[in-house]
Amino acid sequence: MMNKIGEINFKEIKRISPSQFYSMKNCAYKSLLAEAFDKKPLLPLSPNAYFGTVLHKMLELIVKGILKGEDDFNAEFDRQVKALEEDLKQKGFGFFVPLKVKLKNFGLKKIQLKKHLRSESEKTTSLGNIKFHSEKWFESQDKLICGKVDLVIENENEIEILDFKTGAIIQDCLDDEGEIYSDVKNEYKEQLKIYAQLYFENTSKFPTALSLVDLAKQKFPVEFSEQECKSLFDEAKSLLKATNDCIHTKLFSANPKQENCKYCLYRPACSFFHKELETDFSFNDVFGEVTNVKKFQNGNVSVFLQNGNKNLIIKNFSSEKFDKLGNHKNKQIRIYNVRKEATEFVYSAADTTIIYE
Ligand code: SF4
Repeated sequence: MMNKIGEINFKEIKRISPSQFYSMKNCAYKSLLAEAFDKKPLLPLSPNAYFGTVLHKMLELIVKGILKGEDDFNAEFDRQVKALEEDLKQKGFGFFVPLKVKLKNFGLKKIQLKKHLRSESEKTTSLGNIKFHSEKWFESQDKLICGKVDLVIENENEIEILDFKTGAIIQDCLDDEGEIYSDVKNEYKEQLKIYAQLYFENTSKFPTALSLVDLAKQKFPVEFSEQECKSLFDEAKSLLKATNDCIHTKLFSANPKQENCKYCLYRPACSFFHKELETDFSFNDVFGEVTNVKKFQNGNVSVFLQNGNKNLIIKNFSSEKFDKLGNHKNKQIRIYNVRKEATEFVYSAADTTIIYE
């Protein structure tokens, strides 16, 4: 059996979190698909994304003071990695295991994470009037916006909201003169500003500082104004409403472009993306009618697709795919997560390649 997308049952999105806002702004249809599929991705995540969940969980335990020393840290880290590896094997992604070997920077990230354990001197400072609230849940009065803040530090008149990121916080941007400069990613800035407004709605106080912290413990301040936070908050609510309205009007729209679709895990269900695939060959996904399937002496299988006047070859499928692909001769299929070869229109299958009819 080949993977297949049946009828899509769109569902209203009840609430939006600050971290979803940017993604919804870039392509609201993706949020609708995620909701329709109960947030179960239709394609595998990258191993880094899975590992990111472990890193974030570890940070949470450190910030909460549950992990105090290096021994606690090591035992919990091993336990979390083992649990993730078991889960990956169960999902059929055993090829990502062992993460230690398969992931670049596994060791470095572990070392960086360990640096977040509070030193004795830091523990002493925290005994004053400073209050730490980790993983604090906030929701707006109308319950349309909600989310968990990684850490709030309250110290008399100072209130700081911190968000931990396990990936890059900075990106290269171009100024008006075309010069490259580095800045905090816009999505993270907006996320923090919405948290600021959420905090205000719940406490009637505005934070005095917003910061992002990376794995290497570097802190990046985010400038903000109260007006800006309020506008983003309202924008998020309007966007949520407009997105849900599409379900009733059935007038869906999407924003299929490389930066949005590349990491979208709902590509197999997106008709807008499918249309794009018919003419755009820049993606790591291909579409076409199966014209031939060949098995070679080494057992490897290649499939030949016709897309318009282009002939595509996808190599390196394992031999058990031969019959499955052969049964789809003269039918259209989409193959996701292929690797582009040096020759144009030639691709090869990878561990994460998935075929949908
Ligand atoms: S594949 Fe692209 S256009 Fe389709 S939902 Fe995902 S991001 Fe949007």
